[in-house]
Amino acid sequence: MRYSGFRVIKEALTGHKGWTPAWRDPEPQDHYDIVIIGGGGHGLATAYYLAKEFGQKKIAVLEKGWIGGGNVGRNTTIIRSNYLLNGNEPFYEFSLKLWEGLEQDFNYNAMVSQRGILNLIHSDAQRDAFIRRGNAMILNGADAELLSVDQIKARYPFLNVNDARFPIKGGLAQHRGGTVRHDAVAWGYARGADSRGVDIIQNCEVTGFRTRNGRCLGVETSRGFIGAGKVGCAVAGASSRLMAKAEMRLPLESHVLQAFVSEGLKPVLPGVITFGAGHFYCSQSDKGGLVFGGDLDGYNSYAQRGNLPVVEDVCEGGMAIFPMLGRARLLRMWGGIMDMSMDGSPIIDRTHIDGLYFNGGWCYGGFKATPASGFCFAHLLARDASHPMATAFRFDRFEKGLMIDEKGVGAQPNLH
Ligand SMILES: Cc1cc2nc3c(=O)[nH]c(=O)nc-3n(C[C@H](O)[C@H](O)[C@H](O)COP(=O)(O)OP(=O)(O)OC[C@H]3O[C@@H](n4cnc5c(N)ncnc54)[C@H](O)[C@@H]3O)c2cc1C
Repeated sequence: MRYSGFRVIKEALTGHKGWTPAWRDPEPQDHYDIVIIGGGGHGLATAYYLAKEFGQKKIAVLEKGWIGGGNVGRNTTIIRSNYLLNGNEPFYEFSLKLWEGLEQDFNYNAMVSQRGILNLIHSDAQRDAFIRRGNAMILNGADAELLSVDQIKARYPFLNVNDARFPIKGGLAQHRGGTVRHDAVAWGYARGADSRGVDIIQNCEVTGFRTRNGRCLGVETSRGFIGAGKVGCAVAGASSRLMAKAEMRLPLESHVLQAFVSEGLKPVLPGVITFGAGHFYCSQSDKGGLVFGGDLDGYNSYAQRGNLPVVEDVCEGGMAIFPMLGRARLLRMWGGIMDMSMDGSPIIDRTHIDGLYFNGGWCYGGFKATPASGFCFAHLLARDASHPMATAFRFDRFEKGLMIDEKGVGAQPNLH
C-alpha cells in the first residue's frame, strides 16, 4: 500500500478500514541468501538497500526484540554532517544527502526536519577549530556558516550572549542539519524492505554462528537454525557479545548514554543547539518536549539505564546555556548502549570468517549515519568490496595506525 495525502483523505472518509499492516510477520525460512542480525536502523536500512539498490533476493532481518526497541528508538534524533576528518566527512555528507530524499524514497513520513544545528563558540581557540571544521565541511560539499555574535543575537534572542558564565563568541551553523523522528526511521525502512520481499523476523535472537572450514553457514537462533549465504551483523551496543560467539574480540567497548525529554512547551528552540564549554545538546521535538543529552556515563555497561552524576552534569550544561530550562519539568529519561570504538569512528568490514560481515562502532553518532551505513553495508554484502565512502572504516586501520580520531583525544573511549 502506498501512503499519500489522497489515501489519508480516502481512509478518513471510509472509516479507516483500508489500512494494512506496515510489514508482515513471517515465519523464518530454512535458508536465506543474506541474513542481517539486528533490526535497528542500520540493519533495516541495510536490508532495504540490498533489495532496492543491489537487486538481492531472499533476505531476512533477525531481531531479538521488536524493531525500533534499540538505539534507533532511543537517540536524541540529531542529524548533521559537521565532521572534520577525511575518512568521516564525505561519508556523513553522503548520509545527509540520503536523508534529504529518504521519505519520498521509502514512502514514509519520518519527519525529517532540516531545522539546522548551531555549535556555540566560547573561546578564541574554539573559533579557530570551528573555522577549520567549517572549511573541511565546505571542501567536502557540505554547508557551513560561521555566525558572528550579532547574527546569533538576532537569530537566537533567548541566548544570553554576554553575561553568562561562558560568554558566546560566535557559532558554527549547519543549516541542513536537524532532527528526524527516530523510531519512524526504523518503521519506514522496515516497511520499505518488507514491500520488497525482505522477511523481518522479530523475537528471534541469534545465539551463535554455525561455521565450517572458516566459512559461516548460518546462525543459531531462539527459533532454530537459519542457513545463510552471507550474514551481516548490525547489533550496535550488543556487538561485542554477539561477535564473541564467533570467537572475535572487537576493538569496541559498550557504554551507556542517556537522553532526556522535558514536558511539552510552546516553541522555544528553532533548531539544534550545542553548548561549546561543556557537553550539552538540545532540540525541541514537534510535540514540544526539549530533547537533550550530554556525556556518556563513563563506564562499561550493558544496562539500558543511566546514573545520577551524569544527570547532574547534563543539567549543569543545560542551565549554563539555557537558564530557562530550570523551570521545565523533566518528563522522561532513559539510556542506550553505545558501541564505542577506540578512535570514535565506525567499522563496516568483512571478518576473518568467510561470509560473515560486521557493521558497528557507531558511538554517539550512528543515528545520522543510518542511511549511509545501510547503503555501504549493503554494497559490501552484495559486492564483497567496500563502498568508496566507507573504505576508511575497516578493521585493519587499528593494526596499521590509520585511526580516524575525530576529536584527536587518543585511544580512550570515554573521551570520544
Ligand atoms: C541516548 C542516545 C542518544 C543518541 N543520540 C544520537 C544523535 O542525536 N544522533 C546520532 O547520530 N546518533 C545518536 N545516538 C547513536 C545512535 O542511536 C546509534 O549509534 C545507532 O542507533 C545504532 O545503530 P542501530 O540503530 O542499528 O542500533 P539499534 O537500534 O540498537 O539496533 C541493534 C538491534 O540489534 C538487536 N540485537 C542485539 N543482539 C541481537 C541478537 N543476538 N540477535 C538479534 N538481534 C539482536 C537489538 O535488539 C537492537 O534492536 C544516540 C544513542 C543513544 C543511546
